[in-house]
Amino acid sequence: MRFFSTKNNAVSVGFKDALFQGLAEDGGLYMPETIPHLGTDFFQSNLSYSECAVGMIHPFTKDDLTLAQLSDICELAFDFPIPIKKLNETDSVLELFHGPTLAFKDFAARFMARTMLHFLENENKEITILVATSGDTGSAVANGFFNIEGIKVIILYPSNRVSAIQEKQLTTLGGNITALEINGTFDDCQRMVKSAFQDAELRSRFTLSSANSINVARLLPQSVYYAWAWKQCGENNPIIFSVPCGNFGNLTAGLFANRMGIPVEIFIAATNANDTFPYFLNSGTLQDQDAIQTISNAMDVGVPSNLDRIQTLFDDDINLIKKDISSWSFSDDETKDCIQNIHNNFDYLIDPHTAIGVLGLNEYREKTNSRTKGIVLSTAHPGKFADVIEPIIGENIPLTDSLQIAMKKEKISIKMSKKFSDLKDYLLPK
Ligand SMILES: *Cc1c(COP(=O)(O)O)cnc(C)c1O
Repeated sequence: MRFFSTKNNAVSVGFKDALFQGLAEDGGLYMPETIPHLGTDFFQSNLSYSECAVGMIHPFTKDDLTLAQLSDICELAFDFPIPIKKLNETDSVLELFHGPTLAFKDFAARFMARTMLHFLENENKEITILVATSGDTGSAVANGFFNIEGIKVIILYPSNRVSAIQEKQLTTLGGNITALEINGTFDDCQRMVKSAFQDAELRSRFTLSSANSINVARLLPQSVYYAWAWKQCGENNPIIFSVPCGNFGNLTAGLFANRMGIPVEIFIAATNANDTFPYFLNSGTLQDQDAIQTISNAMDVGVPSNLDRIQTLFDDDINLIKKDISSWSFSDDETKDCIQNIHNNFDYLIDPHTAIGVLGLNEYREKTNSRTKGIVLSTAHPGKFADVIEPIIGENIPLTDSLQIAMKKEKISIKMSKKFSDLKDYLLPK
């Protein structure tokens, strides 16, 4: 399978190059040239999670990985439970936060780390992964790549804009992981990473790679849990997916699953106050917004990178996008009320990101009266956002063991301005 750049169809590479390059040289994002329809028989068959993953990912990777190699990677990467919590007859929550860093980013980070390790094993090469994070990507990548030989990881995160636990998770590992604490927003971090990729001098001195959702290899493993959730519903009918969105990688992965054959009534792209996408669907205008800080901080993204991919998937036709995706934005107050209501009504705790997804599903039901089964993707464990949730519910949330260990470690970060030249000086000391 070839992957082409969203900026220029003529630029295309194989899976391995797309994985290591992250961003195409022209600044575009890689898209698979086709998304094969696997047929409902495949999705209805009795497969384990990792078998389902292998079946869905293999068409994209088969030029570079044998089935057996891909199976090994998937079995090691997806070794944690993926429960569905039923709230009522129609609404369920897909808990994607049972990986080591307690957020759904573990799916992609663990898959990418193992795939890169596989390719690097027989090469005497060092690569540097640059990653911008709004919170959870950094910790998932740090954890997934920790101690992997031949890979150096440099994480850029916005100072004072990640939760205490997220910060500990990304600044305490040491070893091959370095955390740069940027005096700016997530968008600033992302801009710095993008500039590094386009800098000829850096490109010639390092083998740079990215683990952000600009990397197409992140989307492939993320499409698998949509299929898994649909299978668990035990129906052959379309269902609703409500996705809390920031950079829109997760949603784009769902669109891939849909093209592969998972029947979907509607995707709900639920956002916090960062409403670039719902605004775009309503007005047809894409605004360059600065990120607004909210309590669902991993979604504080002003300009979601994956919009390029979504537009490419729908041939730049906004009416086609609107047929498949509805989108609304919700405030911090609505988010807090939702956490409280779900806690009161179902004795169930959700984190602020998941709450945005629940609000999206509720909004859709109000507007359409649809009684179709709906699944909210739960992207983080509530314990990661105890500082936000505890005052709302008036109770303490016990920390999981892994969070307790991380909280006791010492933070080590390098403070930096948001200027790209500072990042470059750091990477290439004079
Ligand atoms: C990253 C993240 C999101 C947003 O996912 P995107 O793929 O960037 O849209 C939502 N919730 C949590 C907890 C996250 O870490």
